[in-house]
Amino acid sequence: MKINFLFIFLQLFFSVELMAQLNIVEVRPGMFVHQGEHLDIDEGYHGDICNIGFIIGNESIAVIDTGGTIEIGEELLSEIRNRSNLPIRYVINTHVHLDHIYGNAAFINETPIFVGHENLPKAMQLRKAFYEKLNFDFMGVDPKHSVQVPPTKTVKINEEIFLDLGGRLLKVKAYPEAHTNNDVTILDVNSNTLWAGDLLFIERTPSIDGDINGFIKVLDEIKEDQYSLVVPGHGTPSKDPHLAFEKIKSYLEKLRDAIRLAIDNGVGLHEATETLLSDESSNWLLFDVQNKRNINYVYPKMEWE
Ligand SMILES: [Zn+2]
Repeated sequence: MKINFLFIFLQLFFSVELMAQLNIVEVRPGMFVHQGEHLDIDEGYHGDICNIGFIIGNESIAVIDTGGTIEIGEELLSEIRNRSNLPIRYVINTHVHLDHIYGNAAFINETPIFVGHENLPKAMQLRKAFYEKLNFDFMGVDPKHSVQVPPTKTVKINEEIFLDLGGRLLKVKAYPEAHTNNDVTILDVNSNTLWAGDLLFIERTPSIDGDINGFIKVLDEIKEDQYSLVVPGHGTPSKDPHLAFEKIKSYLEKLRDAIRLAIDNGVGLHEATETLLSDESSNWLLFDVQNKRNINYVYPKMEWE
């Protein structure tokens, strides 16, 4: 009995500790970012590996990505409520990946408008069973608690919509297939800060789950604009957007060119995954595992080009 009490106490203690540990940084006045850990999905994934955050206007609040579990979403909500009681009018998902969307459910009672790419609802549906399995396998989440909340307002490809938080406009833009087929970016117009979602990786090796040529093309388009700050989907927000965009673009171009050459020279997929771009490994975290995945994903598609 005593041991049980001790156990419950410890559990409570550590869950309270965890609640307090969602590190939040105010990167611009009224704009807050929590940076997830650089962990691979196969290595101790706990749902907290990407950047999530919120922007507070004069009248309302927008949340951008919500983390990989409802608990992370709840922690984010409590961090918001520590700072403001304004209504949460928008919850925006930058794309479908599980680490970015499974905290949405924590915001349902706030009755926000959920915003995402026009392809997001279908992408969520297609991945539902697979993501429920991953959430169960890696975190023991009962599939009943892997709740997807699809967007109630969608943005069409190449369309830009404005969300008004009261004296603070956000411009949400949807792209053709790039990192995924459902990427959006969010520009905070006042501070000229771009939330790039996974169209930008900083430090961590980029991942491709869409179209490599489309990804490069979208990066070319995005980097034309000058931003005072960019918040990537993963990694530290950067005041040198040009450098950050050039770095990811350079990786993707090298990857595409190396795969093209390998296919032309009859280098098989297995050998390609073992050898291509190994000289890039010192430039990125979690490189070996993610670079292999990227080659495995892109090579078969390019074989048919
Ligand atoms: Zn992603």
